[in-house]
Amino acid sequence: MPVTAVVGAQWGDEGKGRLIDYLASKADVVVRFQGGNNAGHTVVNDLGTFRLHLVPSGVFFSNVRCLLGAGTVIDPDSFLEEIASLESAGVSTANVWLDRRAHVVWPYHRLLDGAREKGSKLGTTRRGIGPVYGDKSSYRGLRIGDLLHPEFLRQRLQDVLPLKNHEMAFYGLPALKLEDLLAQAGQWREKLSKRIVDSVPILRQAIQAGQQVLLEGQLGIMRDLDWGIYPYSTASSPTAGGASSGAGIPPRFIERVIGVAKAYATSVGGGPFPTELFDENAESLRKIGDEYGATTRRPRRCGWFDAVTVRYAAWLNGLSAMAVIKLDVLDSFEKIKLCTGYRLGNQVLTEMPDTVTQGQVTPVYEEWPGWTSSTRDVRTWDALPSPAQTYLRRIEDLVGVPIRYVSVGPKREQMICL
Ligand code: GDP
Ligand code: MG
Repeated sequence: MPVTAVVGAQWGDEGKGRLIDYLASKADVVVRFQGGNNAGHTVVNDLGTFRLHLVPSGVFFSNVRCLLGAGTVIDPDSFLEEIASLESAGVSTANVWLDRRAHVVWPYHRLLDGAREKGSKLGTTRRGIGPVYGDKSSYRGLRIGDLLHPEFLRQRLQDVLPLKNHEMAFYGLPALKLEDLLAQAGQWREKLSKRIVDSVPILRQAIQAGQQVLLEGQLGIMRDLDWGIYPYSTASSPTAGGASSGAGIPPRFIERVIGVAKAYATSVGGGPFPTELFDENAESLRKIGDEYGATTRRPRRCGWFDAVTVRYAAWLNGLSAMAVIKLDVLDSFEKIKLCTGYRLGNQVLTEMPDTVTQGQVTPVYEEWPGWTSSTRDVRTWDALPSPAQTYLRRIEDLVGVPIRYVSVGPKREQMICL
């Protein structure tokens, strides 16, 4: 199974980093295929607890080649900071590479994102991600590989900057100077040029040699630019289709797609979230699950597992398997609910409604008994309490995809492999 995509089947923060870290021990290459440093992928291993933002979660294995694909956007300062902090924790980053086509997040992207977000409720992370993708599709972007061509870079920035400064003025922000940006770019060039590559031959050769390639998504289906809760979405596509185009791997070579879902649900940022809880169950999920954003430490909104959403993710991604993460967080619950449909007036919807309607529905729930015992030390399916097995089997039925992995704690070994 040479190429496996790992994608979020909910709203993000499902535990993709954790699963990639688990699978990477058998991988040759890990590619992040979209998004930027708005990601927070937590990996807990012998070296410590790491919150990765841009660097692929395969970095803890020095023989694994880690690539930031063409579909990603790179804030060079943030990337270099992350590299430095990994190195200082004893993690080698010698095998981390940037595809030359990835776009650069410039300081004006960050400033504009922050200024825009002030007046809206979209819930972006203010890392400049929306603005940089906007510039990319309106031909005003600059790519990491452009850093290697100073004259071209100067010309492009000269063209783009007046417009950006105009936009900045709209928000009352002071103009940026061309020479300052070029000086900054010069520093980035010095530090990054050795990592800038063309990922096409690297991945072609890896696949032709039958190597194991993992594609690491960021966020989840409900934040997809097309299929998610627009406009409360991200600016790229965190699906298996996005993996193909963002990493530059033809669709027919992606043989396995693993959807990662929590055993319940969380969402950071704005937009509808039908199973959101506001009672003591929400508090318990947040507290036990430590549900605070890895990038922003924002408290995550918490709710029950929503099978409508994960079924939608299963189809759109063509999931071949599911990983259910954080089962242990439900250990103390006496009753657990599963959402099987959305009620709207006297109708029950089982297809994904539009963003506005989603904000108006009430979930249809099934209630299942909890297992009220710890699963954190369980390592086999058979050793799981039978109500936990029943709950997971019911999720499989509702989603229509087999569960391959069940995670019962953040550490690498706290994984049940089916
Ligand atoms: P990602 O963005 O999809 O990589 O997920 P995040 O790292 O943002 O969020 C997942 C959080 O859950 C992290 O804090 C992980 O350390 C933690 N975690 C992962 N798996 C488990 C698990 O099975 N049990 C518990 N209790 N925590 C987990
Ligand atoms: Mg995260």
